[in-house]
Amino acid sequence: DKAGPAKVVVMGGGLSGLSTAKHLVDAGHEPIVLEARSLLGGKIAAWTDEDGDVSETGLHVFFGAYPNAMTLFENLGVSDRLQWKPHQMLFAKPGRPTREFAVFDFPNIPAPLNAGVAILSCADMLTWPEKLQLGLGLIPAYLFGQSYVEKQEGVTVQEWMEERGIPQRVTDEVFLAMSKALGFIGPKKLSMQCVLIALNRFLQETSGSRIAFLDGNPTERLCEPLKEYIEQRGGTLRTDCPVEKILVNPSDNTVAGLLLAGNEVVSGDYYVNAMPVDGLKRLVPPEWKELPYFSNLQKLRGIPVMNLHVWFDRKLSTVDNLIFSRSPLLSVYADMSEACNGYADSERSMLELVLAPAAPYMQKTDEEILQITLQELEQLFPQEIRADQEIDGYAKVVKFTCVRTPTSVYETVPGVDDARPLQQSPIDNFFCAGDFSRQKYLASMEGAILSGKLAATAVSDFDLATASARSANQLSERARDPKIAVTSTPDRTMFITKPASSIPKEVEEELTSQKPEPAAATTV
Ligand SMILES: Cc1cc2nc3c(=O)[nH]c(=O)nc-3n(C[C@H](O)[C@H](O)[C@H](O)COP(=O)(O)OP(=O)(O)OC[C@H]3O[C@@H](n4cnc5c(N)ncnc54)[C@H](O)[C@@H]3O)c2cc1C
Repeated sequence: DKAGPAKVVVMGGGLSGLSTAKHLVDAGHEPIVLEARSLLGGKIAAWTDEDGDVSETGLHVFFGAYPNAMTLFENLGVSDRLQWKPHQMLFAKPGRPTREFAVFDFPNIPAPLNAGVAILSCADMLTWPEKLQLGLGLIPAYLFGQSYVEKQEGVTVQEWMEERGIPQRVTDEVFLAMSKALGFIGPKKLSMQCVLIALNRFLQETSGSRIAFLDGNPTERLCEPLKEYIEQRGGTLRTDCPVEKILVNPSDNTVAGLLLAGNEVVSGDYYVNAMPVDGLKRLVPPEWKELPYFSNLQKLRGIPVMNLHVWFDRKLSTVDNLIFSRSPLLSVYADMSEACNGYADSERSMLELVLAPAAPYMQKTDEEILQITLQELEQLFPQEIRADQEIDGYAKVVKFTCVRTPTSVYETVPGVDDARPLQQSPIDNFFCAGDFSRQKYLASMEGAILSGKLAATAVSDFDLATASARSANQLSERARDPKIAVTSTPDRTMFITKPASSIPKEVEEELTSQKPEPAAATTV
């Protein structure tokens, strides 16, 4: 009893919106994606400058434990664009006389043995008693998996370690870097659940912690093939299309349409939010605000993060992998001239660095950010970089760009997990994707892709159930009156785009003044 294609309006062209549209066309529906900015990708968006150099919103890596991302790459026929690195985790050792890393080497044996060997054989960071105490603490996560992990939502990383008597040094040496990498905040704030979700996957899956870089600009190398896939199957994507207001039917509070800039209204059968949580909060109509599903969103808020690209005049002695910096300002970094084919350069290094927690630095100028970063890089590359660029014999900065994202992924602090919205909302024709929506992965690319799949499934299931209910209704009517013809296909809306002046008086309201905040890049 399959309904015909539903017209589904998707708000936001980041990874979750594109994944929603991809899974909707797979299910035979017709999505239209409305993206506020001129380029697709949201937090994975990247752009090329006049020199041909690329700036990214964030340094991104994929993990072996990203099954939905891997399936997506396979479906798009672009799996060869993932550049898998040696199965290692590298932690920088700042402040040494030479550039040094502590290396966790994962041998090619099944999980969790490979993780065990990696931890035990790394003599650099933790003592044997520290390793033992940490290992004992993690046993329940391995034995009870996701159900145990979900119960650890109420405590911070710091509290979890203290409750188990795990020495502070373990937090300082390993979990400070991991917290900053996973949630862009420190262990005193980050929910332990966030760390355990990642560790649990690494302990359960042999290649779970193996890292891959995309081979170039994510907007071109991942969003473009997604766009083609969606368009070839009847979907539509529109950029420069900010949604300004969700219009509500006064009779039942369902969505009547979306008001865009320029007074245009787009209507469909269903609507899927794929904007970040801060964008959605701004657009929740007054009629929905009292519903816990929407009022709980107030507990979720995006946190600031910064992504810096520094081009040097020479090659640094870096490695072809992601590095956890273990320094106060920086989270992770990579030499993209080594790690990413699309940015390969045999003559000069380009370090891409994530700055987190970034709140104290957001108001600083780009030059100040560069200077503070160079001071940390001096600790990480003691023989190659000096913060004082006048000193001869050291690497010189040729150019840099600083990309600020004032509200990035939601702040994963204890007590907010329950506020994450399910893909199916209490409003019949409104659904929610986005990395912040309820799914078992972190606010990550995998989480965003999975959320889109779940949202598309929720739309399809609801549509099918509605069609079945209608045809059952019609059958019972026919039983009463055999002259009535039965059809299993519900009446479909066309995508209606029309001027706002033509929408019914009762749903006409003032334009919202809130606009999405695009990440701005500054090249100096
Ligand atoms: C610096 C940084 C590094 C990261 N590193 C990693 C990593 O290594 N690995 C990993 O897995 N994840 C990483 N992430 C997280 C990952 O990028 C996100 O979880 C994921 O991309 C979120 O996708 P999304 O579609 O949910 O949201 P977004 O990417 O934010 O997409 C939302 C889209 O909605 C659009 N929008 C907003 N308002 C409107 C409106 N009114 N109308 C229409 N459109 C609107 C936005 O422009 C945007 O395109 C990183 C994030 C950052 C910021």
